[in-house]
Amino acid sequence: MITCIRRCALSVLALAAVASPVAAAMAQDRPAPISESEVRSHIAVLASDEFEGRAPGTAGETRTLDYLAKTWASYGLVSGTNDTTRPWFQPVPLVERKPYGQAVSAVARGKALALKEDGVVLAGRNPTDRVTGEPVFVGFGVKADGTLNADVQGRVVLMLSAEPKFAGAAKLPNLRDRQKMLADAGAAAVLITAPEGASWGALRAQLANGSMRLASDDKGAKIGGVLRGDVTQALMRAARLSPDDAIASAQDAAFAPIILPVTLDLATSALVRAFASHNVIGKLPGARPGSGAVIVLGHWDHFGICRSEEAEDRICNGAVDNASGMAVLLTVAERLARSAGAGAPLDRDVYFMGTTAEERGLLGAYHFADNPVVPLDQILVALNIDTVAIAPKGAPVALVGRGENGLDEIVDQVAIAAGRTVDSDTEANAFIRRQDGWALAAKGVKSIMAGGSFSDMALLQAFLTTVYHQPDDELTDATPLGGAADDANLHVDLVRHFADEAKYNPAPTGD
Ligand SMILES: [Zn+2]
Repeated sequence: MITCIRRCALSVLALAAVASPVAAAMAQDRPAPISESEVRSHIAVLASDEFEGRAPGTAGETRTLDYLAKTWASYGLVSGTNDTTRPWFQPVPLVERKPYGQAVSAVARGKALALKEDGVVLAGRNPTDRVTGEPVFVGFGVKADGTLNADVQGRVVLMLSAEPKFAGAAKLPNLRDRQKMLADAGAAAVLITAPEGASWGALRAQLANGSMRLASDDKGAKIGGVLRGDVTQALMRAARLSPDDAIASAQDAAFAPIILPVTLDLATSALVRAFASHNVIGKLPGARPGSGAVIVLGHWDHFGICRSEEAEDRICNGAVDNASGMAVLLTVAERLARSAGAGAPLDRDVYFMGTTAEERGLLGAYHFADNPVVPLDQILVALNIDTVAIAPKGAPVALVGRGENGLDEIVDQVAIAAGRTVDSDTEANAFIRRQDGWALAAKGVKSIMAGGSFSDMALLQAFLTTVYHQPDDELTDATPLGGAADDANLHVDLVRHFADEAKYNPAPTGD
């Protein structure tokens, strides 16, 4: 179908060239808008059961990478890795861990303490791990200056998961950073209290799913764990502490950590797998090398086979999240490559990247930011595309990243010129850290996610609270693709603008 659309359109162009050079030039500039059916045809492939939900490191990854690279190449894109030894695919070394078993026992004053084991979830770093010792309750783990409040070398640490707020203190490290600090300081096991308000069942299921990390960032204590509230209380009572008093005293920046005279014995087993997944990167070379680059990115990965054998539907197909975004990357590349092939190349190189392991913490995007294929200061704009098949045709354009990088006015003007209305509030910024563009923005790249999906929060929430990350995120006749086609056309215009030296020529950063 794609080949047909392309051939038919090309033959129309050829006829126009014979008929009138002016009409031909116009046709080159303005090919037919990207249609819903073009977007649908790519989603149908990427979200099909044959692609097995596109989990990193599976057969689904191989099929996905192959489809993306071959389709881009068929349009005339070249490899964008800028590495002739590794065309198209940038390896992203990952470590995946799945917990398999755990054992927990406790002894207080010579007597075994009955801890409810279903209230403890442990995850070990190695195939087997064991840590024994008296836990030190560190409160939030930090002093008012943000440094650790205890010597934790070799210890079992028990820490509150809530964010510390000491009177008069500056911003203190968040939970993840505090866990890292404890591991870096040599803690053998880091146990945290279950976050307030979190469903214990959901938390357990999430932890049982395992974790994935970049091999380059694979640090941590031997054992990590979460304790349900009643287990934390039982430990404190066994140490003759009032749980309420101990937790209240930790709210004070002068809190002194307390060693609980209870011997904990923690053991874990896990399946640990190191493997390389890949970002796939294509390039539409510009006419003016050295004039900077534009990157359009979206994540290709999803959760794969996400239900156990007895489930009726085992595959999380990720049709909206994010086969729809990849479909937009494909159609946008096709339109731009077609214009370039017809003699109207853009000034700047345009990169198209499908990232891996976004669902596991933006890992592919972080890897790219650490190992960019062009220096990051040459990437003038990053346009991320995620979860586009939500809004109907004509939805206003919202911006994740509004007010963050001076691009608002340009995007608004391009959107209005394309016949869209603009949603100028900053509601969409609630998602700024939850999307791949964040990994680049964190390193100073001007990064935005523009589109209709983030303009109607009620519509977005309706998706997030139902089929999102479930086997039901499938392509159906009812999948709204009007907004996705709109957003695809918008991105053709945005890339044309940002890749044009005359239209967009920002002063180099640092000036
Ligand atoms: Zn997702």
